[in-house]
Amino acid sequence: MNYKHALQNKIFKIISQSAKELHLDSYVIGGFVRDFILERGTAKDIDIVAIGSGIELAKQVAKNIPNQPKVQVFKTYGTAMLRYEDIEIEFVGARKESYNEDSRNPVVENGSLQDDQNRRDFTINALALDLSEENFGDLLDPFQGIEDLDAKIIKTPLNPDITYSDDPLRMMRAIRFATQLDFIIEKDSLDAIKRNNERIHIITKERIVVELNKILESKKPSIGFLLLEETGLLKHILPELSALKGIDEVDGQKHKDNFYHTLEVVDNIAPNTDNLWLRWAALLHDIGKAPTKRFSKKVGWTFHSHEFEGSKMVYRLFKRLKMPLNDKMKFVQKMVFMSSRPIVLAQDVTDSAVRRLVFDAGEYVDDLMTLCEADITTKNPHKFKKYHNNFKIVREKIVEVEERDSVRNFQPPISGEEIMKAFNLKPSKEIGLIKEVIKEAILEGEIPNEFDAAFQLMLKEGERLGLTKSE
Ligand code: ATP
Ligand code: MG
Repeated sequence: MNYKHALQNKIFKIISQSAKELHLDSYVIGGFVRDFILERGTAKDIDIVAIGSGIELAKQVAKNIPNQPKVQVFKTYGTAMLRYEDIEIEFVGARKESYNEDSRNPVVENGSLQDDQNRRDFTINALALDLSEENFGDLLDPFQGIEDLDAKIIKTPLNPDITYSDDPLRMMRAIRFATQLDFIIEKDSLDAIKRNNERIHIITKERIVVELNKILESKKPSIGFLLLEETGLLKHILPELSALKGIDEVDGQKHKDNFYHTLEVVDNIAPNTDNLWLRWAALLHDIGKAPTKRFSKKVGWTFHSHEFEGSKMVYRLFKRLKMPLNDKMKFVQKMVFMSSRPIVLAQDVTDSAVRRLVFDAGEYVDDLMTLCEADITTKNPHKFKKYHNNFKIVREKIVEVEERDSVRNFQPPISGEEIMKAFNLKPSKEIGLIKEVIKEAILEGEIPNEFDAAFQLMLKEGERLGLTKSE
């Protein structure tokens, strides 16, 4: 088969010509070919294999590009990269790999194209197109990757046990591709992942997180998390989530399975936000429920303070996975901490509760609403409709409250200095008390967030505290 039409970008002719000048063969391989056939849009990265030195080929290609881009050489990996337009092009010499027990970094020697295709993770990632002048665009597909693309199957070219054991990151990649592409992992592969799941420990946390993020960024992230669970990988990388699995029953009372509930929430939120961190918040919003679960005869199952516990767990989880401990982490913590707040509002919307919600959530109130809407997984159609309707009202009221009282980034209408001046006070606890009373009155809707109203309330409160007004 010929795929010349995949190679219309001028760069492929330049690579072809450059390879010819160096008397070597070259191929475009992997993700670019796969995504072209799947019509997944134009690629942002292209991988080129040279039968010879990939670094030399990269340098030759750079010479033949009018603006002569810089070539970045990664000596330890024997690869080189250059940018063309907004595409990253990576060059590597065809290689044969052999692995040690304790590392995913193989011993490498030069090899043929076939050797290089053998070391690829999946049949659908081993597809190569010839870039030589004579056979430009010819497909080289030794493992029937095209058939697997059609059948939507993820499968390793060689023995899956060896493939996954050699480089356990491939287990994460298999699940990530299954999620992104909505493919099935072939049974032998799935079984091999189950057998090898413990080997995930030799993979750096950073690489695991890259794959987790890609799963979360997919259209239907639950595909990936269900596979992580099924293969036993989840308990190694996110034990907080595995711990949510299961339903307990005491005295005929059950609670819901919080793992499957969580996955529903993540799938629900996906169409409504591309914010990776909000998706993380959806994934983690209930993790505090495992350690706080209690049963009492009187009230049944409870998860007291699971939001607070959960937000503390977010920190520990981010730290363990070497994720950034920055404002993104704090955002996830805040969402988890506040994740139950709008629930009362889903049942009964009051002005003051909306005002308080806006006050506490601040600039993240819209994200919090998006999370809480996704959290509605009730199977009772009457409740489902009612909760969504009420959240719609909440969203309208948020806008209203915003216009009237601007509590989102609340600034007290009267400053401490003004209070001190009014009563001729030195810094003292009365100032804090008066400020608190004013804030409460605004949030309760008793007075508008304005100077005059706040000033009157201040005078009244000062009098109550026995303060005398200065002349
Ligand atoms: P995407 O760019 O969407 O992540 P991709 O398939 O292009 O998908 P890359 O990580 O860019 O993935 O890798 C490019 C190619 O290198 C893959 O298509 C595959 O052939 C090969 N590859 C990448 N990682 C591995 C691995 N861990 N084991 C074996 N082959 C791999
Ligand atoms: Mg790629």
